[in-house]
Amino acid sequence: MKTYNLALIPGDGIGVDVTDAAIEVLGAAAKDRFAFKTTTFPWSCEYYLEHGSMMPDDGVETLRGFDAIYLGAVGWPETVPDSVSLHGLLLPIRKAFNQYANIRPHRLLAGVEGPLKTEGFDILCIRENTEGEYSGAGGRVHQGKDNEVAVETSVFTRAGVERILRFGFEQARARRGLLTSVTKSNAQKYSMVFWDEVTRELAAEYPDVTVSHMHIDAMAAKMVMAPQDLDVVVASNLFGDILTDLGAAIQGGLGFAASANINPDRSAPSMFEPVHGSAPDIAGKNIANPIAAIWSVAQMLEHLGEADAAAAVLGAIETATGKGIGIRPGLNTTQEITAAVIAALEA
Ligand code: NAD
Repeated sequence: MKTYNLALIPGDGIGVDVTDAAIEVLGAAAKDRFAFKTTTFPWSCEYYLEHGSMMPDDGVETLRGFDAIYLGAVGWPETVPDSVSLHGLLLPIRKAFNQYANIRPHRLLAGVEGPLKTEGFDILCIRENTEGEYSGAGGRVHQGKDNEVAVETSVFTRAGVERILRFGFEQARARRGLLTSVTKSNAQKYSMVFWDEVTRELAAEYPDVTVSHMHIDAMAAKMVMAPQDLDVVVASNLFGDILTDLGAAIQGGLGFAASANINPDRSAPSMFEPVHGSAPDIAGKNIANPIAAIWSVAQMLEHLGEADAAAAVLGAIETATGKGIGIRPGLNTTQEITAAVIAALEA
């Protein structure tokens, strides 16, 4: 039986609760299919306050040897600026391990009523995850003075744009054959025009995929007005980040939105985490919905090649939600939802 070595970074706030839930479900899914060992890293805002950094200098190298990384959520803005917690842990891992494809599925789970009046939708958002607006290139001069200047540069490389779009085309080909590329090429006349051009070049290689180009503002409206018309959506780092919170909202809330940071060539581990953050407003209240985190476990199993276990976890989630468990915020405790998913897995 195969044994997977998993690195766990529970992080802050509800990140800890949902990681516990996710790993409990993973244990039930493993059964006689596979074994796993976990190593937990305490890297978080609390760790930062003690050590002055979000992770040790060799943190990334420590993670390199694992089969996969599972992350809860990081951030505690009361004590550590979000720019520090994000740039000190999550972004360096995504970049160092070339986890360039951030995959975020948005659909209504059985029993869940989203805020929209629609029969249903099934969107796969693919967000570029290593460059673009989150490249970290920029600087500030004359800080605190009247002549202060802040510059933040988006970086779009041909290699980076081409690989994320190709990934999107492949996903579209394996699904319903529709790809929507999201830019703002009317206003951003260099980077986004370039993105559109690469999309057209690649489209020639995928005649079986129907491509549409949309601007980010129109796309935001479309996700509310006609999400059922969308299949695979590919967007830059910032646009994908924002659109997927909208995706989470239409699927019933952030408690349902899963996320996989994938290194498609498998030269380094991939990382799995719910879309949501550490939710300081509900931390410690035992009402965090663990479904997004558990769905991310299914994505991890899929990536590891455990397709049966992945399908079993997704099926168990929908058995639970189909019975009304966890379908609205505050309806059930984190443990009740986790127990319902495990019961469905073991049934
Ligand atoms: P958030 O996702 O933590 O919370 C937004 C809202 O959604 C809150 O009202 C919260 O209670 C609710 N919510 C989120 N997850 C939920 C769940 N599983 N069940 C029920 N309700 C849930 O976003 P935020 O408030 O903007 O950020 C809080 C902190 O998290 C910040 O420090 C931010 O930087 C960080 N953050 C981290 C990540 C990450 O680690 N990947 C992602 C987003 C935000």
